[in-house]
Amino acid sequence: MNEKKSRRKYIFIAGGVMSGVGKGVASASLGAILKARGLSVTAVKIDPYINVDAGTMNPVEHGEVFVTVDGDETDQDIGNYERFLDEDIFKINYMTTGRVYLSVIERERALGYHGKTVEVVPHVPQEVIARIEKAAEYHDADVTVIEIGGTVGEYQNILFLEAVRMMQLDCPANVLIGLVSYLPIPGNLGEMKTKPTQYAVRTLNGTGLQPDFIIARASLPLDEPRKKKIAVNCSMDARDIVSAPDVDSIYRVPRNFENEGIADRIIEKLGLKTKKVDLQHWDDLLNRIDHPDGEVRIGIVSKYTSSGNFSLSDAYLSVIESVRHAAWHLKLKPEIIWLDAEALEKSDEPLRVHDIQALIIPGGFGKRGTEGKINAITFAREKNVPFLGLCLGMQLAMVEYARNVMNLRGAHTTEIEKEAENPVISLMNEQGERMKNKDYGGTMRLGHFPCEIAKWSKAEEAYGKNKVMERHRHRYEGNPKYYEDFEQAGLRLCGMSPDRTLVEMIELPNHPFFVGSQFHPEYQSRPFRPHPLFVGLLKAGMQK
Ligand code: GLN
Repeated sequence: MNEKKSRRKYIFIAGGVMSGVGKGVASASLGAILKARGLSVTAVKIDPYINVDAGTMNPVEHGEVFVTVDGDETDQDIGNYERFLDEDIFKINYMTTGRVYLSVIERERALGYHGKTVEVVPHVPQEVIARIEKAAEYHDADVTVIEIGGTVGEYQNILFLEAVRMMQLDCPANVLIGLVSYLPIPGNLGEMKTKPTQYAVRTLNGTGLQPDFIIARASLPLDEPRKKKIAVNCSMDARDIVSAPDVDSIYRVPRNFENEGIADRIIEKLGLKTKKVDLQHWDDLLNRIDHPDGEVRIGIVSKYTSSGNFSLSDAYLSVIESVRHAAWHLKLKPEIIWLDAEALEKSDEPLRVHDIQALIIPGGFGKRGTEGKINAITFAREKNVPFLGLCLGMQLAMVEYARNVMNLRGAHTTEIEKEAENPVISLMNEQGERMKNKDYGGTMRLGHFPCEIAKWSKAEEAYGKNKVMERHRHRYEGNPKYYEDFEQAGLRLCGMSPDRTLVEMIELPNHPFFVGSQFHPEYQSRPFRPHPLFVGLLKAGMQK
């Protein structure tokens, strides 16, 4: 690290015992309480799989694919960083094993190693370090929090831990390591056990690393005797063992961490000078969550549900968070009703029983469940239920309108009906060639693009402006041949790309709130800055 770099500090977060215990939220929360001291903070996510990005993964298996401003398709944790840090995160902040190896191999092919033998160690960890430092530099970050996916002891992330070791060796004063561990309470014992955490620390020691702090995830708070036990057995100070019990809302975690005093310990260890901590906005948020004035019932039509509730909510994470942010902003408690798209193919009964106040059709791919989504759209349109269609949700709203209002026989999107009689949604020009060549990875229309909003539209009313930037992830698009027909039939194409070739938003003027967007507003909603379209939807819902 040279002189300029050396003021930058790095906090690595590794997982112990098991994954899926909230390492992403822990990393984001740590970042948030450091930012609340006036530090500039960014976060990096390392995923140990071979996929170059998360774009080609099934959301049921992997959870939501998050999209950055600059069009990277990432793990959902990047979404948590953006929401907790209230900062945009870029491509440079995300790496996978595949991405790291790809650049090493491409550099080798371009003679970038000047004839040297290119080896797994040190060249791969060096590439990892270069990427981390570049992200820190790009964001001009005082502190960069780096989350290493997986758990210590597995083969997959060993090279990333080696990168941590090399960075620490180079500049020990600038690098800290936190272990997010899990403490089980076996039912038959009724006692919280620290042993798995002790083993995890030993495993980490085996890679040449000693944790500077441990975040002790458990269903209950960690008591003092157990903090001491971990401290003694793992050669640590008990003040560096953070109790992190389960919470009903992830947005409580920053406040809980602050109360544990961990940020003060971190800044002391890193020798940072900071302002006094100010968590007022976080406390205000918790206050709104805890003291709502009313409730709002939102139906979300879903199809990525096949392994139960856990992956269901994971696949639609940003949509759920957006609903929450908007509801809290309006001092409402959101109640989300999951509506199975395939069940809606048979009947709209589920829509009737729940008496929902607002309906969301989120993005998606492929045929399964589309007719159910279309039925739900008909219901919302005819029964004046406030409706928001996201990406595929907007495309299907156009299909529904074409079929049922414009009487266009066989209207469909060519994603589902290749030879549709009326292809109102079709593949964007440059996409045809890519599909033929099986060039699927990272080739959708990705990232943020401008959208111009029509005057006197519901969209304009919601946003309070006429030009917005929103994030996209799609291959299909409104077919220009039908634009005029739609407008004439009363569906307003209220948002367009500046060159007026692409439909970005649609709405129905004579409906309380019927809006569709080709983009994904959910990627830009933040707890302290709810997205206008979700706020507009819920406001209309409350009038119903
Ligand atoms: N499958 C559609 C497309 O590719 C919609 C994508 C989405 O909803 N993100 O255009």
